Amino acid sequence: MSQQQFEVTVGLEVHVQLSTESKVFSRAQSRISHESSVAEEKANVNTTPVCAGHPGTLPVLNKKAVEYAIKAGLATHCRINKKSVFSRKHYFYPDLPKGYQISQYDEPLCEEGFLMIHPKGLESKKIRIQRIHMEEDAGKNIHMSGFSLVNLNRAGVPLIEVVSHPDMSRPEEASAYLKALYAVVTYLDICDGNLQEGNFRCDVNVSVRPKGQTKLGTRAEVKNVNSFRFVEKAIEYEAARQIEVIQSGGEVIQETRLFDSAKGVTISMRSKEEAHDYRYFPEPDLLPLIVTENTIEGIRSKLPELPEAKRQRYIKDYQLSEYDAGVLTATRELAFFFEETLELMGSEKKGDPKTYKQVSNYLTGEVSRLMNEAQKEINQSRLQPQHLADLIRLVLDAEISSTNAKVVIAEAWESGKSVDQIVKSKGLKQVSDTASLEPIVDAVISKHPDQVAQYQGGKTKLLGFFVGQCMKASKGQGNPQLFQEMIKKRLG
Ligand code: MN
Repeated sequence: MSQQQFEVTVGLEVHVQLSTESKVFSRAQSRISHESSVAEEKANVNTTPVCAGHPGTLPVLNKKAVEYAIKAGLATHCRINKKSVFSRKHYFYPDLPKGYQISQYDEPLCEEGFLMIHPKGLESKKIRIQRIHMEEDAGKNIHMSGFSLVNLNRAGVPLIEVVSHPDMSRPEEASAYLKALYAVVTYLDICDGNLQEGNFRCDVNVSVRPKGQTKLGTRAEVKNVNSFRFVEKAIEYEAARQIEVIQSGGEVIQETRLFDSAKGVTISMRSKEEAHDYRYFPEPDLLPLIVTENTIEGIRSKLPELPEAKRQRYIKDYQLSEYDAGVLTATRELAFFFEETLELMGSEKKGDPKTYKQVSNYLTGEVSRLMNEAQKEINQSRLQPQHLADLIRLVLDAEISSTNAKVVIAEAWESGKSVDQIVKSKGLKQVSDTASLEPIVDAVISKHPDQVAQYQGGKTKLLGFFVGQCMKASKGQGNPQLFQEMIKKRLG
């Protein structure tokens, strides 16, 4: 069978770290501080006897963490179960001092939701969410040469685990789902969203089967992938590997694998446990979690506008393309920037579709390019909505060329200087009076007699050449529209 005769099935389990002040079952601080990174933190400073699993200690559930988990459930259209139960999931590992993780098993907090995804160039698709349960994170082992260290700062940090149905069949769908979920939890402000520090990480279940076969193939689970790009790479590699195993007469085994991002390959880690290996049983130290209708509705009433709704509204109200609306609403910061810029455009331009288009174009174009280049979010730069509003006003009034507009954005991104300051100090204002442009047109025409002859002989395509020469001679400051008219008139 060739590769085309197989289909790939992908399901994701995403661990989202909730940004509560304290841990999920103890009063230990959950986060070091918003400024310092995990790498800079001191080991074992945020621990209590509960985190360290001392005998006789008792867990107490963090109300804020429950509220955050319900928010996530409502925002992904899940049913919120009025009663859910915490269970012990047993396994032995040095970073898990109790010998079990408190999680939820057969009675999770949220069930049966979905997220819409809009992968670029593919059909939009509804990805069903099987469940969202609450659990605690484990600590961290640090392996040195010859010995290992254990840091329990992360032990007991609240997590939700969002489990999708195996509804995805392409790498791009998986990354689109991951981005959609990331947007939801960051819009809700329940997760810091720092991918490098593992605030948002996913396990990828991949299986392949011959097309037409109803039974799913044996799956392998790729652990802890923490980037949108890596999830695609891991699926591509894993699907190809499994197809090769089957094609060469072998059998895919159920196992847990690791993704090596440097080499772009997955490596076998251990054979995958079945649920019964964990010896789940209800946590006797915690009562079942009961939430009332009132609590749920109270939380629902305070939900912000979510990315999918915002995206729809941008398409409808601002006549943006599906793609542009998707880019602008991908993060809360970018959407806020877009809306704030429009707000600052002044009453006359604010309601004009041309304005929407310009603001959108600059944000999805030049600004996104700068963000990628610097590997920064928009709020980590010095660029402010006021810059973009001032600049687009100049563009719309033809007082600056689009080339020079890019220069202004790059400068504002770096220095934060006002548009007015930048335009003045760099002399970027567009010259739109014929009298000052006339000598430039004269010079260009007399410098290129051959092209003039060709143009007058019918090769009118050369108009662009003349305008280009004039722009160059005016150091980008001449109004290209005006140059075009003047040349036409002179040579016509
Ligand atoms: Mn988990």
